[in-house]
Amino acid sequence: MNLLERLDARIALAEEERMLLDSVRALARDRIAPRAEHFDRTAEFPWEHVRAINELGLNAMFVPEAYGGSPMSYTAYLACVREISQACAATGISWATNYHAMKPLIDWGTEEQKQRLVPRIAEGGLAALAITEPDAGSDATGMRTTFREDGNDIVINGGKTFITNGDVADLYLVFGKWEGIAGAKESISVLVLEKGTRGLSVVRLEDKMGTRASSTATIAFDNCRVPRANLLGQPGDGLKILFASLNKSRPSVAAHALGIARAAFEDAVAYINERKQSGRRILEFQGIQFMVADLAAELALVESWLWQVGA
Ligand SMILES: Cc1cc2nc3c(=O)[nH]c(=O)nc-3n(C[C@H](O)[C@H](O)[C@H](O)COP(=O)(O)OP(=O)(O)OC[C@H]3O[C@@H](n4cnc5c(N)ncnc54)[C@H](O)[C@@H]3O)c2cc1C
Repeated sequence: MNLLERLDARIALAEEERMLLDSVRALARDRIAPRAEHFDRTAEFPWEHVRAINELGLNAMFVPEAYGGSPMSYTAYLACVREISQACAATGISWATNYHAMKPLIDWGTEEQKQRLVPRIAEGGLAALAITEPDAGSDATGMRTTFREDGNDIVINGGKTFITNGDVADLYLVFGKWEGIAGAKESISVLVLEKGTRGLSVVRLEDKMGTRASSTATIAFDNCRVPRANLLGQPGDGLKILFASLNKSRPSVAAHALGIARAAFEDAVAYINERKQSGRRILEFQGIQFMVADLAAELALVESWLWQVGA
C-alpha cells in the first residue's frame, strides 16, 4: 500500500459506505475511465457514464429513505465525487451537481414537494443549480432574473449562464428576484423548474479546456410558468438557501479537483517508474524524487483537509 492508499484506508466511513466506495472505484476503473478520453475529445455528454452510475443507484446516497433513497454520510459522497472525477472529470462535475441542486429541496422543501419531486432524482434523474448570470458571478445578489406572481403560477423572465447540466437536467433549482419585494438580497427567492417547461431554452453551450463533456449552458427564461407549489420556502427566503447550498457544494469542488490531481499524480508516477534515460529509470534521479515527494506531500495534506471538512 502506498502513502495515498494508506490515507484512503483511514477515511471515516461506515462498512457499507466503504463497500459502496469499492463498487464506485471498480465502476470508475472499468467503465468510466476507458471512455473518458473519447468524451473529452468529442465533448458529447457522457450519457453512457450517467447510465452506469445509475445502474449502481448512486443518487440514492444523498436522498432520504422516505423519497426512495438510501442516505450515506457527506464524507462518503465526497469520496464518490473524488473517485468518479479521477476517472472522468466531466462525469464527476455532472454527477456532483445532482447533489448541489437537490440538497436545498431536500433540506427546505415541503413534504408534498419532496414526495412529488425528489424520487425523480433518486431514480437517476439529472439536476441543475441555476444561480450565475452574466453580471452576477461571485456577487450572486446582482442577479436579474425575475419571479412574478400570477394567480397560482410564478412567471420567470431572465437567464442564467455557466449552468452545469443546463441542457440535460430533469429538475432545475432556479434563483431569482421576487417582483414586489425591495432589496437586492431580500427579494432573492428560489423554485424548482421542471424539464420541458415552455419558455425555457438553451442559448449556448461553452466549449471548454478540459471537462469538455460536462455541459455548461447558458439558458433563458421567457415567461416560463411554474406552479407556485414549486416555490421553496417563502418569497424572499432565497439568500439563506443559496448560502446553505454553496456551503454544501464547495467542498465537492475540492473533491473534484483532487480526483483530477490524483489521476495526474498516479499517471506521472507510473511513467517515471517505467521511463529510462542514461540506462536508469528516471525515478532514480534525485531531482525527480524531490518533485514526487513534494507532490505527494501536497496531495496528502489537501486530502486530509478534505476529510476534515467532510466530517
Ligand atoms: C465549469 C463551470 C461550471 C459552473 N457551474 C455552475 C452551475 O452549475 N450553476 C451556477 O449557478 N454557476 C455555475 N458556474 C459559475 C460559477 O459559480 C461562477 O463562475 C463563479 O461564481 C464566479 O463567477 P464569475 O465567473 O462571474 O467570476 P467573477 O465573479 O467575475 O470573478 C472574477 C475574478 O474576480 C475575483 N473576485 C470577484 N469578486 C471579488 C471580491 N469581492 N474580492 C476579491 N476578488 C474578487 C474572483 O475571485 C475571480 O478571480 C460554473 C462555472 C464554471 C467555470
